[in-house]
Amino acid sequence: MEKPHNLTVRQALTALKNGSLSSEELTRACLTQIERLEGTVHAFITLTAEKALENARAADARRMAARRHPDEPLPPLLGLPIAVKDLLTLSGVRCTCGSRILENFIPPFTATAVQRLLDAGVVIVGKTNTDEFAMGSSTENSAFGVTFNPWDTRRVPGGSSGGSAAAVAARMIPAALGTDTGGSVRQPAAFCGVTGIKPTYGRVSRYGLVAYGSSLDTVGVLARSAEDAAILFWPMAGFDPLDATTIEQPAADWQPPSPEMLRGLRIGVPKEYFLPGMQPEVEEKVRAAIQTLADLGAAVQEISLPHTEYALPVYYLIAPAEASANLARYDGVRFGYRAEAETLSELFNRSRSEGFGAEVKRRIMLGTYALSAGYYEAYYGQAQKVRTLIRQDFEQAFQQVDVIAAPVTPTTAFRIGEHRDDPLAMYLEDVFTLPTNLAGVPGLAFPVGFDRQELPIGMQLMAPHFQEEILFSIAHLYQQHTRWHLHAPPLI
Ligand code: GLN
Repeated sequence: MEKPHNLTVRQALTALKNGSLSSEELTRACLTQIERLEGTVHAFITLTAEKALENARAADARRMAARRHPDEPLPPLLGLPIAVKDLLTLSGVRCTCGSRILENFIPPFTATAVQRLLDAGVVIVGKTNTDEFAMGSSTENSAFGVTFNPWDTRRVPGGSSGGSAAAVAARMIPAALGTDTGGSVRQPAAFCGVTGIKPTYGRVSRYGLVAYGSSLDTVGVLARSAEDAAILFWPMAGFDPLDATTIEQPAADWQPPSPEMLRGLRIGVPKEYFLPGMQPEVEEKVRAAIQTLADLGAAVQEISLPHTEYALPVYYLIAPAEASANLARYDGVRFGYRAEAETLSELFNRSRSEGFGAEVKRRIMLGTYALSAGYYEAYYGQAQKVRTLIRQDFEQAFQQVDVIAAPVTPTTAFRIGEHRDDPLAMYLEDVFTLPTNLAGVPGLAFPVGFDRQELPIGMQLMAPHFQEEILFSIAHLYQQHTRWHLHAPPLI
């Protein structure tokens, strides 16, 4: 058998169920791999090793006890270790959001997405690194240090769910939760050669997800295959009375599809997603992956999403505007870091100036400006109108095609520090991922090859609202025919 930390979610669950592996052994194997590589990768902000082992032993005991009552169903993910991005709360474990301001914040409640997975039986080994409040594309904006890309530790893992992506790529954990407001699951998945799902807005509850851009935020999964991501995704999804934007949708019982499913499936390739300045190998590998799907029976056609070029300016007005409102709560009084001060306004000022990092301050200023009297209509109001046009682009495209295929990013992983002094270059990383968040549709990123420097290249599939199922199915069939997702970084 594979070494336990190398097992996929599917393999691990099989081994746990047939008794060839205990949750304690599996969890220990993951913790050992973390111990071995954490000094090189730095994927975690907080490890909960003791608690994880305790929960793993409890899962094993429960499985043992159930042998005497074979009719009682066990939770489907019983004993499976996972990691959680440090932007989702877990009661009693500190939740920093990658920020000094929340360095000592211990939430008294658990995010719904996390709770549903706990109810399904998972064991949480720790909280992964993130750009501060999920603002970034490289995990360099974390107050707790950068995460290094396991494929090349001079490079970034992407962001903001860089810790989760790096941990999965480095075989520290079979799967991890991330969040995606403008690409933060898909872009790090692409940079680290793993599979990541950004669900439809409203499909997974945002309760307990620390708010960044509330009309864009989603909770997703990073894993080593589409099938593994699907196994964790469905238990998280569905209506939650604690998040009014979730809706009742029949929970799909996703099963690996038959290859017939690809016959005649209409795949649209948007011409706006292939830019002259992009890395040629990215275009080459993405086009080759689309060709593979065509060889398997899909009907490929070029389409247009004409307002794509406006997604970047629209997102960088709407997301900072929402962030500036959401982050007003960190005032040194209610939660988080509190500075020494004589007066109340000094307390607010100092706590925020000392607690927030540079990128977060930049976003708060941009957002406050965009919302200020006299500018509101010209910026925020206008951005909302263009957002509608972007959503309509997708609606029109989905009248012609079933799914859309495109690159995730214009380049492979860049060097640490490369965009440090150029926020615009950093924002440009998101050109291909932002439109789905603005439109609210789901997107799935998965590896389709490597560039000359052995860095992973990702492709993303996008589908109409609430059609995650078709994304998992197509990516799964692709992964049945190819081996890109099986490659492991040299350091493991
Ligand atoms: N890179 C984008 C930003 O900085 C997206 C981040 C995200 O999805 N959380 O806003």
